[in-house]
Amino acid sequence: MKKAKPMDAVLILLFVLVSLVPLTGLLPRPAQSAQIVRVTTPEGTEEYALDDHTIALDSHGYHLTLAVSADGVQVTSSDCPDHTCMKTGKITRAGNAIVCVPAHVRVDLVGGEGYDGIAG
Ligand SMILES: [Zn+2]
Repeated sequence: MKKAKPMDAVLILLFVLVSLVPLTGLLPRPAQSAQIVRVTTPEGTEEYALDDHTIALDSHGYHLTLAVSADGVQVTSSDCPDHTCMKTGKITRAGNAIVCVPAHVRVDLVGGEGYDGIAG
């Protein structure tokens, strides 16, 4: 589904915030800059870059679809019984997670070591 792109504004805001951090020197590395999506299932752990793509997961008899974008990740479809994972919505910050208990899936956003990686 195509939407108008408020993402650009979010990115600009993000860059502004990030550029302010070194100036203050007071902030103890806010854990906001998510760089990696880590998907943990009973089969193992996979890591994905934060760019536009979808991930199809089969886990514990359930099927989940994750939509990854530059600013976060969300579960867009799942045939698990409770849909808690879908109701979580999009997570955008490092340290946030989506958990699907029935499917034994955990999706974490993980921050990078620094902000330099964003530029690439
Ligand atoms: Zn679920």
